Amino acid sequence: MSSNTGSGIGFSERSDSMPRKPKKPCAYPGCPNLTDGTYCDKHRKEARRQYDQYERAADVHKKYGRSWKRIRNRYIKEHPFCEECFKEGKMVLAEEVHHILPVSRGGTNEVSNLMALCQSCHTKMHIQLGDRKAYR
Ligand SMILES: [Zn+2]
Ligand SMILES: [Zn+2]
Ligand SMILES: [Zn+2]
Repeated sequence: MSSNTGSGIGFSERSDSMPRKPKKPCAYPGCPNLTDGTYCDKHRKEARRQYDQYERAADVHKKYGRSWKRIRNRYIKEHPFCEECFKEGKMVLAEEVHHILPVSRGGTNEVSNLMALCQSCHTKMHIQLGDRKAYR
């Protein structure tokens, strides 16, 4: 009851010898606990459990990869010969499916953006793309 305010000064000023991160409130909604992580001890476990659920959601990405494989296999079944070699009248079995507009530049897995190529034509195609970039 008789304790006065006024203590605490100096305490915060001595922190220069000990580098410490300021504690933040727990990221759990409504939790008043302070932590130097994201969650307080109490909610860390809970967050871990939620994270596991998020990880399962990441399967959607894997699914996309699997469906590309299906698209690719079907495309190759419908276009069994290299489309580049075919232009020159050669029948060479296609081994790869090439994106005409690369996925990294917004290309899709749609048939209109795909090309069945043999390995050497595919390599050539990418060297050409790379060369054009290099020569600007
Ligand atoms: Zn908490
Ligand atoms: Zn070819
Ligand atoms: Zn390609």
